[in-house]
Amino acid sequence: MGGKKLHNHNNNNNGAVDTNSNNSNRNGTTTTTTTVKPPPVTLQQSPIINLDRGDPSVFEPYWRKNGGKCTITISGHDSLSYFSDPNSVCWYMEPELQEAIRRVHRVVGNAETEGCHVVAGTGSTVLFQAALYALSTSSSSVAAEPMKVVCAAPYYSQYKEQVELLQSRLYEWGGDAETFDGSAAPFIEVVTSPNNPDGSLREAAVANKTGNGKLIHDLAYYWPNYTPITRPADYDIMLFTLTKCTGHAGSRIGWALVKDVEVAKKMTTFMQITTIGVSKDSQLRAAKILDVVAEDCEQHAADKTFFGESRKLMAERWEKLREAVKDKKDVFTLPKYPKRYCNFSGRYFQPAPAFGWLECKEGCDASALMKAHNVLTRGGETFGVSSRYTRISMIGREEEFERFIERISGIQCVDEEDEEEEEEEEGFVVMNGNNGGDVIRLGNENSNSHGKWLEQVEVQ
Ligand code: PMP
Repeated sequence: MGGKKLHNHNNNNNGAVDTNSNNSNRNGTTTTTTTVKPPPVTLQQSPIINLDRGDPSVFEPYWRKNGGKCTITISGHDSLSYFSDPNSVCWYMEPELQEAIRRVHRVVGNAETEGCHVVAGTGSTVLFQAALYALSTSSSSVAAEPMKVVCAAPYYSQYKEQVELLQSRLYEWGGDAETFDGSAAPFIEVVTSPNNPDGSLREAAVANKTGNGKLIHDLAYYWPNYTPITRPADYDIMLFTLTKCTGHAGSRIGWALVKDVEVAKKMTTFMQITTIGVSKDSQLRAAKILDVVAEDCEQHAADKTFFGESRKLMAERWEKLREAVKDKKDVFTLPKYPKRYCNFSGRYFQPAPAFGWLECKEGCDASALMKAHNVLTRGGETFGVSSRYTRISMIGREEEFERFIERISGIQCVDEEDEEEEEEEEGFVVMNGNNGGDVIRLGNENSNSHGKWLEQVEVQ
């Protein structure tokens, strides 16, 4: 973003002092009063909006209203032992949590739990690593070479980071599943559905074609607050997390539904060796929250439940986003999602994913464009695709989202002809936007053969 210039066209208004000499005092003598006008907000001064993180604060207002039902008491004599249930494959898992997980899947209808072992994790992040360990050390895997781990691009950026972090000899990152030749050796394919970042519904790209692939299904977003539940998912390893289900990211509770008992045991071993289990306090709290959510679903019409209210909120945000970008087709576009019938809510609706996936025109660096508006997003390259794309979180706080919607309206697309006239001024563009805002030029390194749309942004 070097070469960025900010020009304030309201020069007389820059921290201006207006003098008014027409006031008279009680003695009839004229005095001069001064009013200090605040300087206009410039781009650099406008607050930074952070839409980079997928922090699920969107559900906080719901829990402020309804959270009382989830209160539990943990006294000083609770949670002393490492052990919870010696009869379960996952011996550190509280039976209440296991029961609540099965119950919530049953009432929502988003996953088949019958015949599955449940393995708990400190968020599903650690369970992804546990699954990699389990799959890459199973007897049917060839251990001579590290197993490749692949995922269709755009993929959740953390998979690559986690696979590469410890430079394991068991597995290594293999990149985009779509271009991966899976015929040579066993490999692991991760399928995220709905996908982070682009919200698409996915099936395996390569594993089912070659027969060499072992699958991990990350179903973090397969809940009716984001997407219609069309059938119970039924895969070998399915990862879920409280983070995206109810929004309790800070409790750090995730779970895996695993069909093969040997895989479940190995995942448990991984947890035992790395962390000796998962906080019982968190497990008990998660069990309570999931029970409250499940009971709500059992007793009320879908629209009146946590999922129904959350879906409405997400749908409203998406409506606002689509409305804001409607006139910006020459700047960026959003994916379209077809309506589907949701078995849980008994109606058709359009997915409202946790992230917006903005696509800019060829040659544009989408996250740089956003950054020029002081909006932090996560660029496409992190997800294994072009920098034309960027991901914006739809699950942050209300105020931040509203501010973003206001700011996005300020992006202006200027025709070549208009610009030529403006170029005459001072070597950089000065123009009055629709709302009388300032205009900046982002520097020539951002120009491209597809027009000048990237060069000007309006500051609100
Ligand atoms: N999978 C996906 C696709 C995610 O987006 C996330 C959270 N961003 C996770 C897994 C991990 O969530 P957590 O560790 O909080 O359970």
